[in-house]
Amino acid sequence: MAEFDLVVRSSDIVTPSGRFDGQIAISGERIAAIASADTALDARDTIDAGDKPVIPGLIDTHCHFRDPGYTHKEDYYHGTVAAAAGGVTTVFDMPNVDPPTTTADRLKAHLENAQSKAVVDFGHNASGVVPENIADLAEAGATAFKVWMMQDIGRDYPHPPGTSVTNHAVLYRVFEAVAETGLPLYIHPHDQELYDLFVGRSREQWGTDFRSYARALRGGDGVVLNAAIATILEFQRSVGTRLHVLHLSTRAGIDMVRQAKQQGRTVTAEANPFAMFVTNDWANIERRGPYSLGFWVPENDNPSMWQAIVDGTIDVVGSDHGPHTKEEKEVGWTDMYTAPGGSPFIEQYLRLLLTEVNKGRLTLERVVEMCSANPARLTGYDGQKGAVKVGNDADLVILDMDHEEVLQADHSHYRCGWMPSEDFPSKGRPVTTILRGKVIMQNGDVTAEAGSGRLLTPATRRSAV
Ligand SMILES: [Zn+2]
Repeated sequence: MAEFDLVVRSSDIVTPSGRFDGQIAISGERIAAIASADTALDARDTIDAGDKPVIPGLIDTHCHFRDPGYTHKEDYYHGTVAAAAGGVTTVFDMPNVDPPTTTADRLKAHLENAQSKAVVDFGHNASGVVPENIADLAEAGATAFKVWMMQDIGRDYPHPPGTSVTNHAVLYRVFEAVAETGLPLYIHPHDQELYDLFVGRSREQWGTDFRSYARALRGGDGVVLNAAIATILEFQRSVGTRLHVLHLSTRAGIDMVRQAKQQGRTVTAEANPFAMFVTNDWANIERRGPYSLGFWVPENDNPSMWQAIVDGTIDVVGSDHGPHTKEEKEVGWTDMYTAPGGSPFIEQYLRLLLTEVNKGRLTLERVVEMCSANPARLTGYDGQKGAVKVGNDADLVILDMDHEEVLQADHSHYRCGWMPSEDFPSKGRPVTTILRGKVIMQNGDVTAEAGSGRLLTPATRRSAV
């Protein structure tokens, strides 16, 4: 019998201690050894990647699979197939499903449903809106808690009841209850009353189309977001909760987060591909209308956001994969206030990041930090995932850095049939995805079966090797 099940050879293996010409030897599901290129290894199978880089599988801490409740938009199977095709081997999905995961029983049912469909490893960010339920949710397997500070305006989606908190006293109690669990708290910052003010002004000035909607959230030079970021950073200082600030894209917000981090506080932050690649250019908003929306990042915030991505102020890139149907989106050409935001991205964000690596804007090491290593730390899985090192799960992605393509929804695995990065030129893509020692994607074909993903909860974490 061979000593190892699989050996992956590459002249460019990206490890925590640097890039390395060598071989990754896998036994069962884990990395058993990392050896030099000339070591003779006895393996059942060998993949020779040549000079193609090998990186750890991506960990997406922010995706919306719409399942259960909204499976006409997306479901856990198609969402995780798209993940595997995009080089993502672990996902943590968000709680704005129906019913939202506000109780332990709902969370258990959610995880069971996800287990029957997932093709990559998965966990769940539970809805933390009821302080009294937070301890039970942690016990039942939540990896983190998510709270929107946004309440919706005439829509029941994507922010349905059971997902948001606008009352500061309740939110403060959420901070206290989550701090007790030791888990991170993910917050979508948003000052609802200020937002209502700017929505009113925006509608008056520009009507109800997608342009008006994009401008409303950025009214007052980002004050709707910044006032909320100031509030949650102050709650974090007061309580000590592990705070993860979502959707960071305003320069004042970035300055506040940077300062909190310099003070050594438990604060991390996220950027999203729609903000980095699509809605940071008004021409895209004009051209794609409701299909571009996430939210607008104006020109005077864009350089700060990219600087924070490069310098490490922003820790994590979360895909914020959030599909809706074309029919739901079409309404937004004339009335974006009744059309849903959100857009699919989980299959393309690595491609777009690799394109930036090819342009010299980001290093491949920085991409690995933001998409694998830091998400592993955030979720407490850094002893198991997010790095090519001995003892970790053999979650690997082989990259073709020279592959050029124009991105097309037709080639994606989404149910919704469109994407905001349609027609974007890209250079660099994942060609092989390996999950726990098994090839699950090759050249875009995902071969993993529904249910083969493994549930990750704090109780199933392995301690660091
Ligand atoms: Zn989201």
